[in-house]
Amino acid sequence: MLRVKTWGTRGSLPRASSDECFKSQVSQLIDDIGLDHPDGLKALKAKLDGDEHLVFGGNTSCVEISSKNESVIFDMGTGLRDAGTKLYKNGVKKYHIFLTHLHWDHIMGFPFFLPAYDPSCEINFYHVHKIAPEYVKILFNGVNFPVKWEDVGAKIEFHQLKLYEPVNISDLTLHPFSLDHPGGSFGYRVENGSNSVVIGYDSEYKRLTKEELGKDYIYYQDLDAILFDAQYEMQEYASKFDWGHCTPTIGTGLALREGIRNVLLTHHDPWASDHMIRQMSENAKEHVRVNLLEYESKWRGLSQPAGPNVVAVYDGYELVLGEDS
Ligand SMILES: [Zn+2]
Ligand SMILES: [Zn+2]
Repeated sequence: MLRVKTWGTRGSLPRASSDECFKSQVSQLIDDIGLDHPDGLKALKAKLDGDEHLVFGGNTSCVEISSKNESVIFDMGTGLRDAGTKLYKNGVKKYHIFLTHLHWDHIMGFPFFLPAYDPSCEINFYHVHKIAPEYVKILFNGVNFPVKWEDVGAKIEFHQLKLYEPVNISDLTLHPFSLDHPGGSFGYRVENGSNSVVIGYDSEYKRLTKEELGKDYIYYQDLDAILFDAQYEMQEYASKFDWGHCTPTIGTGLALREGIRNVLLTHHDPWASDHMIRQMSENAKEHVRVNLLEYESKWRGLSQPAGPNVVAVYDGYELVLGEDS
């Protein structure tokens, strides 16, 4: 079993939900049901209790992936605050945090990570960037935040990773590989022997074919789920060359071709409204429907004839892969 939980799903900058946003979402639901509907309130409640997600928020990148025995965190966006609070309250003392890169939106949550201030806690950082220790410590320079590094109470260790060399933590194996992002961003393929997930943001996916991906190609093979960089609409993507982010239909195209079973769209643009994120997700699902025929036999072979599942993930979303045993 692998459980994926997204604690932060916005890219670049946190985006708070607003009163206006909440009201417009509920108003739209009521319009969809119709004011004259005889069971209008029941229908509204069913919609609110249903699967469709209204508000995407939220916090910047933070993902927790857990197996039966272990829990690992990816990135320290503002979503880390809630992740840390939950784990700390559950009595966790030893933490493993993997960093994709050091852009602000991926480290800004660390000063609000409760375990950092408890001397009985141990925090292990794993990073490919050699400069990571320096730029994590700089958060506590006493100028940008009042606490200084020497006053962070937890025992902290930095583990330098080598690209393409896997590391084992309990029953999890983590493979660092290369993404396409200014200054470098490193993805991780997480496996527990029966299931697999790829952290695939922040990346522009300038390299897509087997030849272009080269050594990185194998990390997309026989894959249960990918957290995919879905920051821009296709038009915007084309106009933001070298900005380091991607678009949902590139993700669904890759998934269709390589047989990736779940595409979790994340790193939503801070300028994108909740409505726009849902629309982008619908467009990506349509992209799967329109292009499925070309890959029909592959997907029948995977016993998933409708092709990859596509979800625009939000803060608090969970996906459980495999059996819980
Ligand atoms: Zn980012
Ligand atoms: Zn970045």
